[in-house]
Amino acid sequence: MNAPDSPAPDAEIEALADEVEARVVAWRRDIHQHPELGNREFRTAHLVAEHLKALGFDEVREKVAHTGVIGVLKGGRPGRVVALRADMDALPVSEEVDVPFRSRVRTEWNGLQCGVMHACGHDAHTAILMGVAEVLAEVRSRIPGTVVFIFQPAEEGAPDDECGGARMMIDEGCLADPQVGAIFGLHVTSNHPVGKLGYRSGPLMASSDELRVFLRGTQTHGAMPWRGVDPIVVGSQIVMGLQTIVSRSIDVTKEPSVVTVGVFHGGNRDNIIPDEVKMEGTIRTFDEDQRDAIHEHVKRITEMIAASGGAKASVQIKRGYDVVVNDPALTSFAVPVLERVAGAANVGVVDKICAAEDFSFYQKAVPGFFLRVGCRRPEAGLAAAAPNHSPRFFVDERCLKLGVRSLCALALEWLEG
Ligand SMILES: [Zn+2]
Ligand SMILES: [Zn+2]
Repeated sequence: MNAPDSPAPDAEIEALADEVEARVVAWRRDIHQHPELGNREFRTAHLVAEHLKALGFDEVREKVAHTGVIGVLKGGRPGRVVALRADMDALPVSEEVDVPFRSRVRTEWNGLQCGVMHACGHDAHTAILMGVAEVLAEVRSRIPGTVVFIFQPAEEGAPDDECGGARMMIDEGCLADPQVGAIFGLHVTSNHPVGKLGYRSGPLMASSDELRVFLRGTQTHGAMPWRGVDPIVVGSQIVMGLQTIVSRSIDVTKEPSVVTVGVFHGGNRDNIIPDEVKMEGTIRTFDEDQRDAIHEHVKRITEMIAASGGAKASVQIKRGYDVVVNDPALTSFAVPVLERVAGAANVGVVDKICAAEDFSFYQKAVPGFFLRVGCRRPEAGLAAAAPNHSPRFFVDERCLKLGVRSLCALALEWLEG
């Protein structure tokens, strides 16, 4: 139990979460049926902003980082500032889940027609945080401090040639005004059944960087390779060379990492050796020093293998999301709170995940804790459950109330200090 003088005892939060649950489910279904892609979350943002205004928030800032919404709820007592974050964007995926609120929305993404679906569960995150706003607004006179609600666009990435997401929200002041002391966020996952909460101290999710290689040889007849420089053979050596970085040059006892070449384009006929090959890949790490080291290895290996074959390489590495690192002290604080909310048997350490999340940018600025919330039907095994980003991704809505209770408890208890 929490302290008797706490701003809102567990039982009261539980009762308020019960009350709001049906509405959270309704919001989630509405948002699910009307999914919007990154930087285009106009309807969703409007829904959120109107809700926060109706609750009497002290401040509701709209159009932050394109379509983001920031809500400030000042408690009746002085204190620190805690931020809670939800992401609002959907994915260019055509839904295959057979529910009455299935998405049939189609739109354009980077010039291509596509279906749109909340295949990563951000509809659940947005609805949960709207529910948290309602619960905390109810007990606001007793809250010792301020809660900043961050509804962020474009977590999955902005359209080509646009900025967006967490980095832009921070640039536009979401942690600075008022000055945030800690941030909490969550993500639903079908890796775990509904009712379970997962955490990890330190690195949880990987950094994600984009690799592009342009390799120039000299075009010649496929039957006379000695008259040119074959970028396909040189490029193949580079692919194999890049695979030696993680296995030969990085301390595997520290953290795992991945270098993948996922695109290899060159040539247009069997009997022509082309001028040029283009490769693209992704680099994932759980340690910022290893990340820098891998970048250097990638550049050196690519350029020197190219030179050894008489070709010329240009290497571009676009830094994407940083490593999601849960602050160890904040994690130690959070675990007993979550155990109280979900029951100790339902809270456990989860494995690292090679996917990336732009929650990492908030965590670079202030101590942050990112929680995983199980959303799989308990009767479905892991093998049968579609992962996030699948057209068959399914959210067991019983996870919503647990999400509301978790964020309420973390925020209130952190503010109590
Ligand atoms: Zn995602
Ligand atoms: Zn996501």
